[in-house]
Amino acid sequence: MSKKKSPPRRPGRQKRIRLEKGQRRRLRVGGPPRRVVTPRSALAGIGWPAVPPTMESAVLALNYQFEQSQWWPPGTIEALQLRQAEQLLAHAWRTVPFYRDRLAPLTGLKRGQLTMEAWRRIPILTRTDIQDAGHDLVSRALPRGHGTARDASTSGSTGQPVWFKRTRVTGLFFAALNLRYHLWHGRDFSAKSAKIGRLSDPNAVEEPHNWVPGHVSGPMVQLDFSKSVEEQLAWLQRFAPQYLLTFPSNLRALLQGSVETGINIPSLREVATMSEVLEPDLRVKCRRIWGLPVTDVYSAHEVGMIAIQCPEHPHYHVQAESVLVEVLNDHGEPCRPGESGRVVVTDLHNFSSPLIRYDINDIAIPGGPCSCGRGLAVIKSILGRIRNALTLPSGEKVWPAYHFIFDDALGKSLPSLREAQLVQRKLDEIEVRIVATRPVTAEEEARARKALGKAISDAFAFRFVYVDDLPRPPSGKLQVVLSELGD
Ligand SMILES: [Zn+2]
Repeated sequence: MSKKKSPPRRPGRQKRIRLEKGQRRRLRVGGPPRRVVTPRSALAGIGWPAVPPTMESAVLALNYQFEQSQWWPPGTIEALQLRQAEQLLAHAWRTVPFYRDRLAPLTGLKRGQLTMEAWRRIPILTRTDIQDAGHDLVSRALPRGHGTARDASTSGSTGQPVWFKRTRVTGLFFAALNLRYHLWHGRDFSAKSAKIGRLSDPNAVEEPHNWVPGHVSGPMVQLDFSKSVEEQLAWLQRFAPQYLLTFPSNLRALLQGSVETGINIPSLREVATMSEVLEPDLRVKCRRIWGLPVTDVYSAHEVGMIAIQCPEHPHYHVQAESVLVEVLNDHGEPCRPGESGRVVVTDLHNFSSPLIRYDINDIAIPGGPCSCGRGLAVIKSILGRIRNALTLPSGEKVWPAYHFIFDDALGKSLPSLREAQLVQRKLDEIEVRIVATRPVTAEEEARARKALGKAISDAFAFRFVYVDDLPRPPSGKLQVVLSELGD
């Protein structure tokens, strides 16, 4: 990977990257006027101020509340979460067969008495539980106003697809938190946004659509991630968006492609990532190669937005108005800041498939209070899926940092490296799948093998396999480190 050959930067872009967030905001105030973006109006003849339709009104009304609740002390937020959780528990106990016995540990608890201690008596919900429960996990009586429950499922990229139902309310919270995400990061709603993700039809050409919930925003266009890096870069050049939303693995490939081809996207102001773990080195790389910041969210199909990157720091704030998040150690106790543990999430508003204390199969590290002043709990980093861990012959699990593997070990040893994936099937062997732009020499491979041993562990034998491409699972998420060992 050649790191020196940085593409030429346009004058002015470098200036922007040296500015801190606050400064950028101040600059914009005095800068060229932007097109004003207002909410969509539902009343004939009324354009401004808009009187939005029901759903959009609800999105805006929720954000009005979020503006306040984000500054509340953690204790106040937790108390309100527990009050909401009580409503969810009562509903689940009454109308969802699966929870009849499961919520027995809370029998006798009066309204207003639920504490976190009592909450932790509810058993953890696993993927296997959800699969086994099937329809028993669906409410027999959805409250009025929650809309029609629709089927949804995870893609199965984790090897264990789960099926569940979503409602109008879960969609509403997703849209409202998406708007909060844009507000937090000071996005220009009149700008063009491009998404390279997964399309149901990879060759479909969609009409540009709004990208800011509840607003008549600039256009968003989408491209399927399966297109080649060259095609993606050419498409971005043509559309010239200000924002790009994509998977971290795809961003990595785009940056690499940009270095190789010299193609730059000067219109871009920010890259937002989703769906996969964002490694810190990718932020550094994106700044270095494109001169752009990367912003990330932590979400999951089953529960929506879990945490959004703080406007002032690279860590995340839990979206406590929508989900109750616990990070638990091996004893089921809350982790202290800095300690890694399993992420257990409760969607407080899905009354059709209540997911109560759902082990989402991720490992994260909670952080301490944030200097931005928000009372929303901090997740310092997300280490990844349980399946992203490699198991040493000793039985110990390790989450190798991607930049050690891809930059330090493979990148430096294999100049023709394009993509790589590590797959563990045996306790003492890792398969290293390599996509390279030209054949790798025996010497290079030997160097890479040695470097991998240093970066991960000498306890593994590394078997190199050369492939034309790394097939993405239907979700589009490339699991760059994959364990296929049974539990
Ligand atoms: Zn913060």
